Amino acid sequence: MTQVNDTQQTIYDNNNIFAKMLNGDIPCHKVYEDDKTLAFMDIMPQAEGHVLVIPTQKAVDLGDLAPEYAAAVLMTAQKIMQAQRQVFAREGIVQMQLNGAQAGQTVFHYHLHLIPSSIQELGRHAAIEVDHDQLAATAKQLAAVINA
Ligand code: AMP
Repeated sequence: MTQVNDTQQTIYDNNNIFAKMLNGDIPCHKVYEDDKTLAFMDIMPQAEGHVLVIPTQKAVDLGDLAPEYAAAVLMTAQKIMQAQRQVFAREGIVQMQLNGAQAGQTVFHYHLHLIPSSIQELGRHAAIEVDHDQLAATAKQLAAVINA
């Protein structure tokens, strides 16, 4: 359960779904990982190829993110974006990140969204779970470009 403190900021919950992914307790469609970040497919994408990048640091949102993890997340985001541009043959990639429930954040471990879409065409947020075979195939395609 998510807790809030006196200033209404969320306290990090070690059982959040992304913490469980980092621990290997639940699976994800991994695209890339290094010692400070993990990137994987969003299972309720706002466009085909929607990827999330998370730090291994236990940070709720941008306010908690340590500089070295902020840098690592952006470096991973660059790799993902370049792969998305190649795989989806498009220039436009939306980078999005929500801070706090009031902003619409639903998972309280910091994460960056990278979505092959225009801002006008974004699908609904965290709304429709898509076919996992398709997600696995896209993760493989993106990983192949990154590792080439
Ligand atoms: P936010 O609302 O910014 O916290 O975004 C959380 C994102 O996590 C949403 O886009 C969800 O679709 C996505 N999501 C939720 N559960 C999972 C999961 N098990 N694997 C991958 N993505 C997930």
